[in-house]
Amino acid sequence: MKTRYTRRQCLQCAAVMSLLASPLLHSCKQSGQSCMDPELLSTGEKHLRKQLAYVELSEELSRPCGLCHFYHASESGDCGECTLLDGSVNRQGSCTSWASETRRES
Ligand code: SF4
Repeated sequence: MKTRYTRRQCLQCAAVMSLLASPLLHSCKQSGQSCMDPELLSTGEKHLRKQLAYVELSEELSRPCGLCHFYHASESGDCGECTLLDGSVNRQGSCTSWASETRRES
């Protein structure tokens, strides 16, 4: 037996779904938080970040800043310091200069 829905039921369902999805989207935005306001960066720092193709939220999960030789964690959540970049970087970010943490031990 096929169930048929009225237009009103479909709209009500869509409204409920959007209300439920809102907190999820908000938490996703928080995990990819920006650690540094681009407007506060010097011209040289902006250029360096662009040269190294730094991104706040890396799509390449195997090479995040948090596992990079140059990353130094801070006590303030997802933001830490990078030896190469002057300023805060996101633990989930990445750039083309990523280096394995094992280099630290050698
Ligand atoms: S060198 Fe690149 S990948 Fe490594 S911590 Fe700095 S910005 Fe992140």
